[in-house]
Amino acid sequence: MQDWNTLATDETMLLNTHYTPGRAGRTVDKIVLHHNAGNLSIPDCWNVWQTRAASAHYQVDANGRIGRLVNDTDTAWHSGDWDANLTSIGIEHADVSTSPWLISQATLDNGAHLVAALCHHYGLGRPEWLVNVYPHNHFQATACPASIADTQRDEYMRRAQEYYDQIQGEDNMPTAQEIANAVWNFDQNGVLMRDRVQGTDTAANKTLAIAQRNDGRLARMLMSLKRYTGIPDDDTTTVPDLNNSMTGDRVRRITLMLKRLCGIPDDDTTLPDTITLSDTQLDAIADRVATRLKGNA
Ligand SMILES: [Zn+2]
Repeated sequence: MQDWNTLATDETMLLNTHYTPGRAGRTVDKIVLHHNAGNLSIPDCWNVWQTRAASAHYQVDANGRIGRLVNDTDTAWHSGDWDANLTSIGIEHADVSTSPWLISQATLDNGAHLVAALCHHYGLGRPEWLVNVYPHNHFQATACPASIADTQRDEYMRRAQEYYDQIQGEDNMPTAQEIANAVWNFDQNGVLMRDRVQGTDTAANKTLAIAQRNDGRLARMLMSLKRYTGIPDDDTTTVPDLNNSMTGDRVRRITLMLKRLCGIPDDDTTLPDTITLSDTQLDAIADRVATRLKGNA
């Protein structure tokens, strides 16, 4: 498989007949497993299904290579049951032995991995036999999928579940700490956010000096921030949550007020850099931003 996340197959040989475009408005809720009853390559499958009225979405060959013959969005003719066809993805597997029937370890491993990737992709949940993964013979009287429903079933499903757990465990989202760090180190017009907030860069220091000469003004600024964000005057612990509480208008008004209190001309587009917060307060803000970005708020 070229990419389990995007379901990019090693080979794509789409049939131009013997499948039904679309799924008649139905959605995928299961995977149906088949065996070739032979050892077919991906082109072999294409040739067979171009001439015989049958098809499946995927073929896993004896080397574990995966071919796509029908798009997932179309209905393949594989289960002998129309309703099952409309709501399933069919996977074929090459046999390497006929007596007894067996698929290779490479086919088993890649077939199971494909089941896991499809269950993840379509939100079907952890692969479970007869819950979201079915043998062909569940829908039609047939010996298919032979060993996959018999001697090799448990290993096949165990690996499908392992791969699924592995995929689910991969958290591609940045951690809260990584997001907090990114916010903290955000570079705004050449000044890092942490410097701006802490007042440790040159530009901020300059404004901080102004504010420090005006303690009374700073206190009034903070009081105004509290009132605009709905924090009681006598609450000395809650950190104003600007993202959550203020509309653009309020932000503009407060910015203007801060500028005037800091002695910055109205038409100067530099933001005031003078509010000094404790490390604890900064951490709390970073955590809130991180939580909101994670969508858990
Ligand atoms: Zn079958």
